[in-house]
Parts: sequence; C-alpha cells; structure tokens
Amino acid sequence: MPAHQFQTEVSQLLHLIIHSLYSHKEIFLRELISNASDALDKLKYLTLTDEAYKPIDFNPRIDISFSDGEKPTLTIADTGIGMNETELIENLGTIARSGTRAFLEKLTGDAKRDSNLIGQFGVGFYSSFMVADKVEVVSKRAGEEKASRWTSDGRGEYNIEEAARENHGTTVILHLNENGKEFANRWRIDGIIKKYSNHIPFPIYLHYEEAEWDEKGNKKKETVQKTEQVNSASALWKRSKNELKEEDYFEFYRSIAHESDDPLHYIHTHAEGTMDYTTLFYIPKKAPFDMYYADYRPGVKLYVKRVFITDDDRDLMPVYLRFLRGVIDSEDLPLNVSREILQQNSILRKIRQASVKKVLSELEKLAESDKEKYLEFWKEFGRPMKEGLYSDHENRETLLKLVRFKSTKVEGYTSLLEYEIRMVPEQKAIYYITGQNEKTLRQSPLLEMYNAKGIEVLIMDDDLDDIIIPAAGKYKDFEFKSVNRSDAAEDLKTSSDKEKEKEAKPLVDRIKKALGERVKDVKASTRLSDSPSCIVADSSDPTVQMQAFLKTLGKSDLPEFKPILEINPAHPIIQKLESVENESEFADVCMLLLEQAMLVEGMKLEDPAAFARRLNIVLDRAVGIK
Ligand code: ADP
Repeated sequence: MPAHQFQTEVSQLLHLIIHSLYSHKEIFLRELISNASDALDKLKYLTLTDEAYKPIDFNPRIDISFSDGEKPTLTIADTGIGMNETELIENLGTIARSGTRAFLEKLTGDAKRDSNLIGQFGVGFYSSFMVADKVEVVSKRAGEEKASRWTSDGRGEYNIEEAARENHGTTVILHLNENGKEFANRWRIDGIIKKYSNHIPFPIYLHYEEAEWDEKGNKKKETVQKTEQVNSASALWKRSKNELKEEDYFEFYRSIAHESDDPLHYIHTHAEGTMDYTTLFYIPKKAPFDMYYADYRPGVKLYVKRVFITDDDRDLMPVYLRFLRGVIDSEDLPLNVSREILQQNSILRKIRQASVKKVLSELEKLAESDKEKYLEFWKEFGRPMKEGLYSDHENRETLLKLVRFKSTKVEGYTSLLEYEIRMVPEQKAIYYITGQNEKTLRQSPLLEMYNAKGIEVLIMDDDLDDIIIPAAGKYKDFEFKSVNRSDAAEDLKTSSDKEKEKEAKPLVDRIKKALGERVKDVKASTRLSDSPSCIVADSSDPTVQMQAFLKTLGKSDLPEFKPILEINPAHPIIQKLESVENESEFADVCMLLLEQAMLVEGMKLEDPAAFARRLNIVLDRAVGIK
C-alpha cells in the first residue's frame, strides 16, 4: 500500500491537538457526529434539488457501536454524501482553509479554550487521534461505485486502498488507545451525545449488548443486541419557545457552535405573516478566535424549510455582528437557491434586516434588565459593535444607545445617555479623547481644562474610535468633539480667554519662528492649567491615534502630519520664557516644550539623541544656578 504524507500543517496540528486537549478529549465524538450530520445535510439537499440524486434511497441516520474487549473500538457510521478517494485525500490529509498558522498561534495550552478553538477552526476530525492510535475511514460517495478505506495512526502518514461498503456514506472506526478506552461504554457515549449532539436533526442510534436474565433472575451467558435512539433529532429552532428550556437552548448551542461553554445570551424568533421564518441567534461568552481575520468563519447557518443550505455565507448577517452563532430558517426561499441568487435575494435581505433589528433591540433590553451581563457582552464585543456605527446607518440611533465608553467621570463604562445626564449646563458637545493607552489618556494635559470646568470626557483607546466616531454623526443634538483637535476648545472659550490669547501673540510668533517647519502652527492654549504645553491635530488632519492605526493597515506612504503646539500662557515656564534673550537658548526650550508634549501623547521622537542633548544643556544650566 503506498503511503501518503500529511501536509505539514496537519502534522503540526495533530501534534498540538493530541498534546494540548487530552483533558477535553470527549469532544472528538461531538466533532465526528457533526461531520456525519453535515454529510447527511449535503445529501439531503442534493436529493431534493438535483435530478441525478433523486433516485437515491436516502435514509438519513447515524449509527454508533463499540466493542469493549481486549482491543476496544468505537464506530461512527453515517448514510451521508460519502467521499471518494480524491476527496478522502483532500479532506483528511490537508487543511484547505487559510489562516492555519494564525490558528496554531492561538492555541494557548488551556485545554478548555483550545478545545473550543479546534471545533471553531474546523479540524474536528483530527481530534479522534486523541483517543485512538489508529483510525480507519471507509467511505463511498453517493452515486459512485467504488468505496475506499483511509487508514492512519496519526503520525505523519496515511494509507488509502479500495474497500467494500454496501451503501453510500462514511464509517469511522476508532481503534481506541489507553486514553480512549473509557469511551467504549454505553453510558459514556450516551452522556456525550446528550451533552453536545442532542439536537442534531438526524437520528443517532446507539448499538449495545445487554445481558439476558433467566426466570430465576440469574444472568444468562448470552447477551442480546439492542439499538436505541439517543438524541431527540428535532430541528430545535422550529419548536415553540414555551416548549424549550434554557438547557435545551444551551445544548443546541454547544453542538452548532462547537463549544463547551454555555452562551451568554440567545434570541429565538418565529416570524409569521408576510414572511415566514425562524431565527435562533446566540451571543457567545468569548469572542471567536478569528473575529479580526478577514476570512473569519461565519457563525450563522442558513436553512430552507429545515434543509441545510449553507454555513459559509458571510452576507447572512452584517460584518459587525460576525460573532453571532445560530440559524436562519426560511419557509419562503426556494430550496435550490444558488449562491449568486442568495446574494441578491430580497427575501433574505428582509430577513437579515429584521434580524439585525431584533438582535439590537434584544441587546437594548438586556442593557436595561441586566447591566452586568450587558457589560460582559460589551467588553467582549464592543469593538465590532462600534464598527456598526460606521457601517450601519439604518440602525445608527439604536447603536448609539448601545455603545459604551470609558470616561473621566466613571470607573467602568458609561452610555451616552448617562453622559448626557451628567453634562454641565453650558455644555453643547460630547467631548472625547483618543489614544492608545487608557492610563496615558487619563493623565493627558489635554484634559486639564475639561477637568477644571467639570466637563466629562470620554476616553477612547480603541484604534478604531478615531475613524468611527466622526462617522457616527451626532448623538441627539450633540456633536462629538475630539479633545485631540485644535478646534475642540473653541466653543468653551470665554472673552477673558480671548484677551489672554491676544496678549500672548508676540511670544507665540516668536516660538513659531524658532520651531519653523516642525509644527503646523503654535497657539496660546486655553485648555491647559498645570502643563506648559500640549500638541493637538488640525481639524482636518488625522490624530496621532489615527495615524498609528493607518500604519497598522500597512499604509506606510502617509504624508507627514505636523502637530499644532499649544502653550499655556499662565504657566511659569512660558512666562519666564519671554525674557530669554539668547535665541539658541530660546529655541532649545521651545523644542523641549514640543518634544515633551509629543512624549506625553505617546509619540516617538524622530531624533531622541538630539532631545537628550537639549535636555542636558537645560539641566546643566539648572544645576549651575544652585
Ligand atoms: P470540518 O468538518 O470542520 O470541515 P474536519 O477536519 O472535521 O473539518 O473534516 C474535514 C472534511 O472532511 C469535512 O469538511 C468534510 O468534507 C470531510 N468529512 C469529514 N467527515 C465526513 C463524513 N462523515 N462524511 C463526509 N465527509 C466528511
């Protein structure tokens, strides 16, 4: 038998799975049953839509049997679509999806987390090597004559040979190892299926032997073969809400999301009338590992009249809700919808529109009824949710009610409504400061005036905020104003502020001349009280945070944006600066005022050595005075 090599990534993955997941090894069964169920879904769809498959005798089921002797085995057989030789090689020897490396990097060694990742990533089959030292897969593709057997011990190679299988479908035989022999047990199997796979929409039969008893109550030598359906095999989402208990929902979640954790929240909707459809959405407790990858795996599956159509359509839900898991089942769509049709289908578009509204309104309710749980949600999914402010204009108002921010006046998070209630009487805008680090932001000199006036400033340390907030428009009648910009303080200026600005004009001009090309402008500031200087961005330039974000997107050809230096005319250093006559000494101090303001903003200095030199000259003078 010629041996085939696993793709390198597969070998790496196998190694990782076997060594990091052993304490959660029971998930192998969930994964194998999920594969069997997918194979049944695929064939079901074809028998309903494709003439060539209509004559096939399709009796969808999953059969599980085991032997617990010297050489224990566990067998999972399905009557699904099956695989031919080429498909066996492709599906069980390589990993088609990109992002494998990213996935491998995400594995943490924390078995519970990792076992979830493995399911999400879709490399479930390989988890069988946690419990088996040899795995055989005998499969026959529906509509084809030949069957093939794939065999491997999971150590780098696998074999393929011709085999016999009566009907189409796949049989996976696990030759259980020391770790796996506990699974050759009726109650163990039964328990795992109930925990993870109860709501697989096809029957799962468990075959076992039971001892017979004679009339006197003695155990007979012979045993009898028994078969029992272990799962409920219903499309759970189609059942009425008051029939279902929380645990039913949770069980279903564990099977469709490949999770061991319970979800944070679920939203079940039966819509009737102009459109008939059912949706069941789950919000996970933890963000999916691929939430920030462009090729993230969508978590919502589309069914038409209970027939599975696709789990790979990113357009079913808007991108910002990509963390949702669940099901959309439409009664109105035709079964044989192609991908192209799906994209422009108006029924689907309406379902999506209504689903988004439903999810958002449920989140609104949650925010009111269970603040703590909502914050848990926000911490995990706030960032993608904020993308909605940018991309979903239709739901802007609701999204503005849902967003939460850190702020100078609260410890945790605030809503915009809570901010509004705390506004000072003369306040006309919502102020925010952006940057990369919450701690630095909280101490920024840019906040001094606002703190002094008792005005609350939202602290935004997500790289997206600077792009999203300007796009969000207004909250009620209040504009959002970035404290990092030169014009933010404009509307808070008093006439005495303006007077002081005028007085400082000669000094400002002199500093401007000394700094020359290094700054876009120099202004007398009304926003500082304790610091001598700060930098801000011109109203049309990107802020420091925005520039950093654009760089992370690979935009290295950005033009250089110069900061505006603001000085505090009331500060002793600035007041004494006027009397420095030596121009080169004056220029050194001006440079230091600029450089320290840049450092406080978390920026890098272009020439740190020159900065140190200047600082030392000034220090030398200061030491000399004493
Ligand atoms: P995933 O199921 O997430 O794609 P797996 O590694 O578990 O990842 O399986 C890889 C592929 O092998 C599947 O996508 C499917 O095409 C094929 N496969 C696995 N099990 C079966 C089965 N029982 N019947 C038919 N195809 C299967």
